[in-house]
Amino acid sequence: MLIGCPKEIKPQEFRVGITPNAAREAIQHGHRVLVETDAGIGSGFTDTDYVDAGVEIKDTAAEIFALADMIVKVKEPQSVERKMLREGQVLFTYLHLAPDPEQTRDLLASGCTAIAYETVTDAAGGLPLLAPMSEVAGRLAPQVGAWTLQKANGGRGVLMGGVPGVSPARVVVIGGGVVGTHAARIAAGMGADVTVLDRSLPRLRYLDDVFGGTFKNAYATAGNTADLVTHADMVIGAVLVPGAAAPKLISRAQLSTMKPGAAIVDVAIDQGGCFETSHATTHQDPIYEVDGIMHYCVANMPGAVARTSTIALGNATLPFLLALADKGWKQACTDDPHLLNGLNVHAGQLTYYAVGKALGIDV
Ligand code: NAD
Repeated sequence: MLIGCPKEIKPQEFRVGITPNAAREAIQHGHRVLVETDAGIGSGFTDTDYVDAGVEIKDTAAEIFALADMIVKVKEPQSVERKMLREGQVLFTYLHLAPDPEQTRDLLASGCTAIAYETVTDAAGGLPLLAPMSEVAGRLAPQVGAWTLQKANGGRGVLMGGVPGVSPARVVVIGGGVVGTHAARIAAGMGADVTVLDRSLPRLRYLDDVFGGTFKNAYATAGNTADLVTHADMVIGAVLVPGAAAPKLISRAQLSTMKPGAAIVDVAIDQGGCFETSHATTHQDPIYEVDGIMHYCVANMPGAVARTSTIALGNATLPFLLALADKGWKQACTDDPHLLNGLNVHAGQLTYYAVGKALGIDV
């Protein structure tokens, strides 16, 4: 199969759909890989790295879209890219179609077969191609929160680990899923005093079994949450209610009960955020202050560490990419119902129920 990877063109997107190592494996499987010049540069991969792996470099995205049987990307195709998709071509990338009728219409019109990273599932009921980005955002949260806590950034001037004779920062993580667990591990590793709140008792049991000595946990009643947040130096928002906007768990009025200069890192901002005072920010201007509390609310946190994110995403997509290339999409999806769950569009037909329901299109 001819696999093509264009350079991402969405603003501030530095990731790339295929790493040199993933391309090398695809080539070892007997496939050809085309990559647009400089596609990997934002993630620290040069054209030479790709050529050394056996990749053919092309000057333009147009050549790649014209030649490839399967297009591998990171972000949803932008309008100009959608015009280049064609019947019978496979598109494997993040799509997030439910809130995007324009993209859905264009994908249907193109006749392509679009498999969305975000709806591929695994045997444990998880989302294996979303998890790596949650891992990245979770591990990044205490790092950006620690920076936000510094005096020059408007924070309380508290060091995460304290020093001998001085208490460490108190960190509260709301939501103990993928983001929350990784955030708690890193915050604890920095020496902070960490408590994770969750509404799921099975999840709290798991956290207690695995991390009982590393960080504490508590059931996320409104009372427990309010109490812990009042004494916190940093609060990390990491809740998810699948298919719904994030619940607002901390009101503006509660900010006045917090320590002045405390830091909020609202990772759930991509689902609307779990603090009433959260609004999405960018890597260029990541923090703002409300009632003396510093907020960090960047909606695409993994972009800050594009190289790590690209490699993590590449590790997760590789088995699916190889299956699609080796067997063709039809056989690969027949053999693997979890990959089939990724199928959103085929030959002008929407094939994913939740997207059809959200957009009022027959599936
Ligand atoms: P997850 O499903 O693994 O975990 C969510 C957890 O929240 C679950 O354990 C659930 O029980 C818990 N929860 C739900 N309602 C709760 C409540 N009221 N109080 C306490 N806990 C509650 O999800 P995840 O992968 O950890 O993602 C968390 C959030 O981070 C999502 O909104 C996701 O979209 C977002 N995210 C953002 C970025 C970013 O760049 N900002 C990157 C990755 C993920």
